[in-house]
Amino acid sequence: MTPKQRLAHRRTLERLRAEILRAGPARIEPNRRDAATTGVADEDAQALSEMMQVLASKRNEGQAALVQRIDRALRKLEDAPEDFGLCEECDEEIAPKRLALVPHATLCVPCQARRDPKLGGSRKKLTDYR
Ligand SMILES: [Zn+2]
Repeated sequence: MTPKQRLAHRRTLERLRAEILRAGPARIEPNRRDAATTGVADEDAQALSEMMQVLASKRNEGQAALVQRIDRALRKLEDAPEDFGLCEECDEEIAPKRLALVPHATLCVPCQARRDPKLGGSRKKLTDYR
């Protein structure tokens, strides 16, 4: 990888990081129980509210983890630039297409697929996403 390509990846990583931080954490609405509205409709609203809270908190966890991965990639560009873009498992080059999409990737596609079979493209049902 040329220094110019590394610079391009650094720019992408920094932009991505800034975007995530600017968007900030998803707001987690407190559970509201309105005394005036009781019954089935309220239970539905309650269930929906709980689901939204779970989704918001999952999204926040995902964002925090993503920022960590971005920081790690930026640190690598700084400390060991020649290692950037190499798979941390097999030392092969990560496909440029993958790096362009996921500049914070640390594994090549085959190694990533081996580590996390769920990402191997075999998911079909919603329940498979757990
Ligand atoms: Zn690999």
